[in-house]
Amino acid sequence: MTAADSRSLKTDQDQDETTRAAEPAAVSEREARQTAEAAREAEWRKPSFGKQLFLGRLRLDLIDPWPTPSAESVAEAERFVARVAEYAEAHIDNAQIERDALIPDDVLRGLADLGAFGMKIDKKYGGLGLSTHGYCQALTMLASANSSVSALLSAHQSIGVPQPLKLFGTEEQKSRFLPRLAAGEISAFLLTEPDVGSDPARLATTAEPVDGGYRLNGLKLWATNGTVADLLVVMAQVPRSEGHRGGITAFVVEADSSGITVERRNAFLGLRGLENSLTRFHDVFVPAENVIGREGQGLKIALTTLNTGRLSLPAVCVAAGKYCLRVAREWSGARVQWGRPVGQHEAIATKIAFIAATTYGLEAMLTLSCLLADDESNDIRIEAALVKLYASEMAWRMADETLQIRGGRGYETAESLAARGERATPVEQVLRDLRINRVFEGSTEIMHLFVAREAVDAHLAVAGDIIDPDATVGRKARAGVKAGGFYARWLPALAVGKGQLPRGYAEFGRLATHLRYVERASRRLARDTFYGMARWQGRMERKQAFLGRVVDIGAELFAMSAACTRARAEGTAEGWELADLFCHQARVRVDALFTALWDNSDARDAAAARKVLDGRYASLEAGILAHDDDRPWVAPWSTGPSEATDVRRRLRR
Ligand SMILES: Cc1cc2nc3c(=O)[nH]c(=O)nc-3n(C[C@H](O)[C@H](O)[C@H](O)COP(=O)(O)OP(=O)(O)OC[C@H]3O[C@@H](n4cnc5c(N)ncnc54)[C@H](O)[C@@H]3O)c2cc1C
Repeated sequence: MTAADSRSLKTDQDQDETTRAAEPAAVSEREARQTAEAAREAEWRKPSFGKQLFLGRLRLDLIDPWPTPSAESVAEAERFVARVAEYAEAHIDNAQIERDALIPDDVLRGLADLGAFGMKIDKKYGGLGLSTHGYCQALTMLASANSSVSALLSAHQSIGVPQPLKLFGTEEQKSRFLPRLAAGEISAFLLTEPDVGSDPARLATTAEPVDGGYRLNGLKLWATNGTVADLLVVMAQVPRSEGHRGGITAFVVEADSSGITVERRNAFLGLRGLENSLTRFHDVFVPAENVIGREGQGLKIALTTLNTGRLSLPAVCVAAGKYCLRVAREWSGARVQWGRPVGQHEAIATKIAFIAATTYGLEAMLTLSCLLADDESNDIRIEAALVKLYASEMAWRMADETLQIRGGRGYETAESLAARGERATPVEQVLRDLRINRVFEGSTEIMHLFVAREAVDAHLAVAGDIIDPDATVGRKARAGVKAGGFYARWLPALAVGKGQLPRGYAEFGRLATHLRYVERASRRLARDTFYGMARWQGRMERKQAFLGRVVDIGAELFAMSAACTRARAEGTAEGWELADLFCHQARVRVDALFTALWDNSDARDAAAARKVLDGRYASLEAGILAHDDDRPWVAPWSTGPSEATDVRRRLRR
């Protein structure tokens, strides 16, 4: 059966049987963790700079010398980025997209004609076959034109159909779908549901096996591109049955299949041009040949896809950093208050220096991760997660500081500024557009847990049973012996290192001092992580504030390493200066994080939060309007046919 045969399998008579209130699945914390753990890629087949860093080993040899892409791939990317820039300059009108909350069809067509929908798709299937680095450079350029445009292209290629097919698709699936996508058909990724955000174990959309395929029922929330997409990746639960191992499974679904209704286009704080949907599936037939990978592999596919897919958000953040730097430079030099350009007042100068240094560090981190992904010699899952986490947090801070530097004008919309005859600088839009990066494709809190899980993996591998509450006494004892041997070798290795040698990393000139710091800090980080494990054992996973700081320190150390190796590779005076500045600033942050590892109010905060949740401090909320609203926090929903009008936007092609 082909996609063209897609049809609604239910008749009106049996509708009552299938219309049921979707109760949120009762999933315990342990089950939720088991689901995430099962989806985790447990093997490490290639070296990982990030993993070694958390183990106290600064493996600079894995990132220095700076990876060199082939001249051909560099030239290809440069040519494409230049064409994208020219097109964006002439045709992408940020003010119009912001005003109309819409990316015009002809812009999407123009981008398709350029090949922008196939940047990551192999040439064999009609795509451009750009390297990860080239793809991210193009996204950075497009994000500087309009963030909704880059979000559309990034969701289409980084999490939509092309990437999972590239990694897990069959040859038949690739030849069937990729040429369409490369030519400009749009894809979306549908995992989130009203009751499923960070915790996929609660997934309620079902895919019931039927003759020749599956029948999908459910409701998917917040799918970027969902209102305009032609092809969807849908995550759904296949029930276990005879001949079906079941579990969360990924499907490619034709968006115009019978039974699919786009019930809403959602609107947000920023990204006003985003085409984001609430999509209902009612008895939607999907042919068996549209399963990506195998039944039960859905979450693993989603996570693996994100290993490199996560690099597209940082590309957008780098664009924001560059833009903020430009605004900060031009405005702070021109605006005079209290007898000087505001950039010469120290309070503003420190912000300018922060934006310049951070943009350099962030770009170094992103470029390095892209080049490592391209040369395929390293496993970059930790690096990509660190860049996503760090970039989304730092870009937000840079935009916030830029708004502050602009004073009242930072808070004013570009349209309002222009109406008064001033330069239309949309800093408030940058801030609004950036904010979501800390939430989607893995929220900051979830990225902390994701990286922490990998960072303590070495400990769990040897000492896992000691801290596993389910392990028997015998298993714990055996693990104790094994762990004793491991730590007897590992701990002493953390006492000394190249970072203590006065001439260590001398080849880095004035930056050597920073790499010595990174080396020492990496060992200290591993020791502190070990102390945490020893102290809290099975409760370690609940020490999220501690683990968050461990990961944040790792991110800073990775950023410093990337900045230094970039500066050495570039060999320019500006590069040395910016890397030096970035490292000085990062060291201040790292020192504060190390201090806070052991000197903090975490336990008090956790206890206080429990009291807040219990209502103990409710009196503090008095004195403002109650804003009573009886509606539920999460809208209940039922499976069954849609009662809404389909708001899918069909593009003129
Ligand atoms: C504009 C936009 C576009 C999106 N695009 C897509 C898309 O294309 N496809 C798609 O499938 N989804 C998409 N999403 C959904 C997005 O991925 C989710 O919003 C995100 O995963 C967080 O889930 P949630 O909002 O339900 O938050 P929740 O999971 O309800 O979390 C609420 C808060 O609790 C924190 N939290 C949750 N669990 C833990 C924990 N164990 N420990 C500590 N903190 C925790 C979270 O970090 C968050 O701060 C989009 C969302 C938006 C707003």
